[in-house]
Amino acid sequence: MGRYLMALDQGTTSSRCIIFDRHGAVCAKVQREFGQIFPQDGWVEHDATEIWASQMGVAVEAMQSMGISASDIAGIGITNQRETVVVWEKETGRPICNAIVWQCRRTAAACDRLKAEGLEAMIRERTGLLIDPYFSATKLQWILDHVEGARERAARGELLFGTVDSWLIYRLTGGKVHATDPSNAARTMLFNIHTLSWDEELLRLFRIPSCMLPKVLPSSGVFGYTDPRLFGGSIPIAGVAGDQQAALFGQCCFAAGDAKNTYGTGGFLLMNTGTRPILSEKGLLSTVGWQIGREVNYVTEGSVFVCGAVIQWLRDGLGLLKNAADSERMATKVSDSAGVYLVPAFVGLGAPYWDAYARGGIQGLTRATTKYHIVRAALESMAYQTADVLLTIQKETGVPLSALRVDGGASANNFLLQFQSDILGLPLVRPACVETTAWGAATLAGLAVGLYSGTDELRREWAVDRDFQPHMSAEERDMLLAGWHRAVERTLGWAKDRG
Ligand code: ADP
Repeated sequence: MGRYLMALDQGTTSSRCIIFDRHGAVCAKVQREFGQIFPQDGWVEHDATEIWASQMGVAVEAMQSMGISASDIAGIGITNQRETVVVWEKETGRPICNAIVWQCRRTAAACDRLKAEGLEAMIRERTGLLIDPYFSATKLQWILDHVEGARERAARGELLFGTVDSWLIYRLTGGKVHATDPSNAARTMLFNIHTLSWDEELLRLFRIPSCMLPKVLPSSGVFGYTDPRLFGGSIPIAGVAGDQQAALFGQCCFAAGDAKNTYGTGGFLLMNTGTRPILSEKGLLSTVGWQIGREVNYVTEGSVFVCGAVIQWLRDGLGLLKNAADSERMATKVSDSAGVYLVPAFVGLGAPYWDAYARGGIQGLTRATTKYHIVRAALESMAYQTADVLLTIQKETGVPLSALRVDGGASANNFLLQFQSDILGLPLVRPACVETTAWGAATLAGLAVGLYSGTDELRREWAVDRDFQPHMSAEERDMLLAGWHRAVERTLGWAKDRG
């Protein structure tokens, strides 16, 4: 068996390939950006052919950089941008239109209609999701309704649908395998997370012919083998998971109550809830983490729309920073934020506020406020928003947390993590391997091909870079959180009040 694992990390702005050894050391890493297509305000598309070409390109380049061949690779793990919809011809493998990306809001009116019809509770109960253009179902429906002849062709079995993982599997296997895993299927709003199958009633509601859907296979298991023409030999595709779930797996959050937060452009907090989904009343998502053999792990997920992006805004919008890393140096020039709160509700607020009309604000300014206080307040806002999500998850799940694992670009910021630990009163752990998403996909594959004996072995491979212990008193924590909540209150409904 090969000594390496290959992760294909197909993201929203770039395709990456990382080749790991069995201990998680990064042996090769290649990344290629691809085009973002904005046909109208609020619409976002990708060229699926370009996604495939860029993903294939980085995989070949990564292998070449190490001078290895297909037989050196024990398995491929795929992790991907979630919810994005690709429809292609069964016969030729050609996409019939651009992929509609998760960010695309073109189906907002369709979603409003579904809500008006009172379908929210039924959809949440079956899929664990809220009705939102974010998820795949209304995007797929849009393609069937708007691309000429698509509906008739789909009904005749000439077209196939897939999220990006399915699209890559199809192309990698030379069109032999049309499959996905439950973590991706669960984001389509067509998948019943309890029965782990496509939901007949939802398929009828969205008028989706079942013959165009991929087969759903366990996240860790052999999906198929790569066409030998691609890498000069066949490699098993043995692990598949959506990006956030892969990161949770890569952080070894295998047990109920384990959680991780990713501080990227946005923030994603996922908690493993064990073998049962916990449906939320507070707008959190219940979704599938992964399936290994017959066992399924469910997760509760909450997201923060603007997390690291607030630092980008300080840099590009206000010119307060030269680079994101400067934020740590500046924030620690002052001993506290002196009562200043920055609420980055640039695009409204998500869980637990769910206010699309909220807009950002800076509260508590005085003549003594400096740019350092503002930078500090911006970093603190990332921690406060994460705390709001985590406390909501804890309330709803009733599962106590012993520590929060962290990753993502902004988790390099020690000030942020210390403040986060203080404000949660909880230890934080930053792993040595920060490529948690790719590592999660790679190890799902590694398990399937027998490179690891089980998740216990993966736990042993996982190493800590640094942990952060809470030092703040409960009184100070409560006072700061109360201030944050007062500041949030003042941003709610702002764009609506404008009249
Ligand atoms: P994504 O994968 O979502 O594009 P990354 O995980 O690469 O994002 O994280 C990038 C984000 O993290 C950017 O928004 C950037 O402003 C922020 N960021 C990066 N480094 C730091 C840092 N040292 N301190 C604070 N924020 C940072």
